[in-house]
Parts: sequence; C-alpha cells; structure tokens
Amino acid sequence: MSKTIIISNRLPLQLQIENKTVHATPSVGGLATGMKSVHKDSNGVWIGWTGLTEEEIPANLLDDVIEATIKEQCIPVSLTKEDIDGFYYGFSNRTIWPLFHYFMEFTEFEKESWQSYVTVNEKYAEVVLDNIEEGDTVWVHDYQLMLLPALIKKKRPDVQIGFFLHIPFPSYEVFRTLPWREEILKGLLGSDLIGFHTYDYQRHFLSSVSRILRHEVGFNEITLKDRIVTANSYPMGIDYNKFSKAAAKHDATKNQSELQRRLDIHIDTTPDAKMILSIDRLDYSKGIANRLRAYEYFLEKYPEFKEKVRLVMLAVPSRSNVPQYQLLKKEIDELVGRINGKFSSVSWTPIWYFYRSMPFENLIDLYTTCDIALLTPIRDGMNLVAKEYIATRTDETGVLILSEMAGAAQEMSEALIINPNNFEEIADTLKQAIEMPKAEQIKRNKFLQKRLRRYNVEKWADDFMTALQDTKHKSDIVK
Ligand code: UDP
Repeated sequence: MSKTIIISNRLPLQLQIENKTVHATPSVGGLATGMKSVHKDSNGVWIGWTGLTEEEIPANLLDDVIEATIKEQCIPVSLTKEDIDGFYYGFSNRTIWPLFHYFMEFTEFEKESWQSYVTVNEKYAEVVLDNIEEGDTVWVHDYQLMLLPALIKKKRPDVQIGFFLHIPFPSYEVFRTLPWREEILKGLLGSDLIGFHTYDYQRHFLSSVSRILRHEVGFNEITLKDRIVTANSYPMGIDYNKFSKAAAKHDATKNQSELQRRLDIHIDTTPDAKMILSIDRLDYSKGIANRLRAYEYFLEKYPEFKEKVRLVMLAVPSRSNVPQYQLLKKEIDELVGRINGKFSSVSWTPIWYFYRSMPFENLIDLYTTCDIALLTPIRDGMNLVAKEYIATRTDETGVLILSEMAGAAQEMSEALIINPNNFEEIADTLKQAIEMPKAEQIKRNKFLQKRLRRYNVEKWADDFMTALQDTKHKSDIVK
C-alpha cells in the first residue's frame, strides 16, 4: 500500500530522556493537526529531527530513541550540534529567514553555513530515500529544506513531490541578492507542486524562476525539459473547532485562571476599559517595537484613553542565541519600561508584558478576554494568531487590527487593516476599534468566522494533497 511521507525540520513530538528512559510526547501544533489525516489516519510516516542532537543522546539509548519515534509513525534524522549550528541557527535563521522577510540588513551570507545547509539537506534526503517505496507521495515543509525536493527527484523521478513554504517568498529584487539563488530555485523545482500562503509569494517565486533560471513560466506553471511544475497558493487555516470549542467551554464553565481573575478585576474597577491583546514570538519580523511606539503615540495623541485601555502583550521567547533576537529583547524590555514609567498611575499600568510561552488554556483566556487584537508584523508569511483570535470570539464581538504585511490580511479584509509603519494610522485605528459599535463588530466577525470555519487546516492539507495527486496526470500527459 502506497503511503505519504511528510518531511519537516522538526518532528511533531517532544523527546525526553529521564532516568535512562526515553519518552516521546506528540506535540499538537497547527501543522501536526492539519497533517493528521495524511499522517496518522493513513499509514503515513513523518521524517524529521527529534530535537536532540547526536551528542545529547547516550549511545546505549539510541535504539530506544528510534523505537519511541517509530511508535509515533515518525522516523528520525540524526543531526550533530555542528549541523544545528550551521544549518538551523546559521543558514536557515541568519540567511533565509531575514532575507525572505525583507530584513536585508540582518542577512548573513556565510559560505560555511551554506555548506552545512547542503550537508543537512543531504542527510534528510538519505533518510527519505531509505524509506521510500514505489507509488509513495512526498510532502516537504518549509524553508529549512528547500534543496530536498531535487535531491529526492534525482533518485526517484517516479514519486510525486510537494513542497510548501510557510514563510513569504520575497520579491525578485530581494531574492536575487542571495549568492546561492540558483541552487535554491533548482532545489525547489525538484517538486511537482509548490505551495505558498498567498498569490503574491507565488508570483515572486515565478518571476525569480523566469529571470534567474530562464525557464518558461505561465500563470501557475513552469515548463521544464521533461516535466511541468505547478506553483499555487494555499492559505493555511487553523483548527477552527479546537479554538471555538475551547472558548465556548471557557465561557460556559467560567472556570477562571489566575490570569483571567486579574484581567477581570481590572474590568470591574473600570467597566468601560478595553483590553488590547498582542501575541507573537519575539521576532524582529513581528513589529513588536513599532507596535509599542505606536501605542505610546496613541496615548499621547488621544490622552482621553489613559486609564481606559491596557495592552496585554505576550512575547514568546524564540531563537535567543541569534544576536538580533537578544538585541530585540533588550529594546522591547526598555520600551515597555519607558512607556510604563511615563504613563502609569497608582491604579493603572498601560502595558502588561509577558515574556514566556503560555499553555493553551491561558491563550484561550487571553483571546476571549481581550476586546481588541493588535497584530502589527512588518512581514509575516501568514499569522495564525489573527485567525485564532477570531475563532475564539464565540459571541462574535471583538475587533482585529491586522498589518497588511501579514499573509492573513489577504483573506481577512473585514479586519481593520493597517500599515505597521504608519503610527498615525495605527493610533486612529485603535480609537476606531475602541469606539466600534457591537453591531459592527458582529457584522465583520460573522464573515471572518464563516470563512475560517470553512477553510480550516484540514481543508488546507486536503486541497494541497488533491492538487499534488493531480500533478501526476499532468506529468503523464507531458510524457
Ligand atoms: N502560541 C503558542 N504558545 C504561546 C503563544 C502562541 O503555542 O505561548 C501559538 C499560537 O497559538 C499560534 C502560534 O504559536 O498558533 C504562532 O503562529 P503564527 O503563525 O502567528 O506565528 P509564527 O510564530 O509561526 O511566526
């Protein structure tokens, strides 16, 4: 029986070694949920890194690690600390991530980390090729593995290969600066189907293929000598029911967490107060510092809202061994301190800042308690937080303010869309959000919820897999 092989940098599980025993706990991220029908419900396998380097796994426990992984229908790719430093913290996070998010000033072009990226992609290819059988379908995920499709196709031209990019694909003018631009494009073109979150990313990719590799490019197809590669957009959705049901349960039980109680105490003392929420990984692409400055500007421009609003800001630690992330952390700490120092009164603090990750229940607390979500990325492939916020609004109230630079803005036109560099616009939009009548909030959210419910993460995975199967017919015709 043929199967689907899913490949991503990290496996959807957490491995722990305690008292010489290995435990594997499945992780429940959005991707794992979307892939469920492809992975767990069929006889699929997932190939990726366990999160532990070779140095971190005692030799006598190696077999146990493999066994625990296989139990979860996963196959590990073994990586050393040097691999992770060069391929992950190096090329993936210091070259591709900043470049593809238009942060050219942060982009490093280091030959050593490029070489590590090549070596590690080859390691993944080796594991895939060892496990591939006739008739299998392959789905490769994200920017860490852009060379993998061609490495597989070279040895196994008979299998259908899909690739999905979860981050933006930048404009040709930015992409062309990459010294290894040809290798990256050729790697991706090993796929039969390449998926992007938005039509713009797809367009940028096709234009790079046409200008750099000089292939014939159509609206969503690239004609190679022996095959056709399809490029299309598939905006990723969320597990809508999981969020809306958790929110409904939360509302029904009124089983309040400590956080919720604190939030409510505030609302009791100032009944017309508005809570403004922001949640992101602490990443320069998320525009956190700009958001704080815009919020400061808002309090200056509209002082009547002092004591009446509060920004609840959750920043999740991320890539903290990359220097830019450490600097950003410092900048944000200082901004929060400065703004709170400047505006706080005895009974009011304008910003509540949390630097940590929160368990799912607390996220639901935040989503359901806050009247406004203010999400202002400078660049963001999609932004799932925007979709999750809307999904938890069981009474259909709430206002989403969303940056036009987030992929999600393409599908969420009923949100208040802003340019994250325009403080004037952000300040005015915050005022509009605070004053928006309930009826208007409900009207906007009805549309948003309907769309998100329909295009959930399972539909996304289904649409991609169906299109990938269809590419088989296309290549049969060319042959
Ligand atoms: N999230 C989480 N724990 C937290 C805060 C956020 O698991 O403490 C989740 C959130 O629910 C969302 C994801 O992290 O699903 C962030 O996805 P998004 O697309 O917004 O941004 P990314 O981090 O992928 O750039």
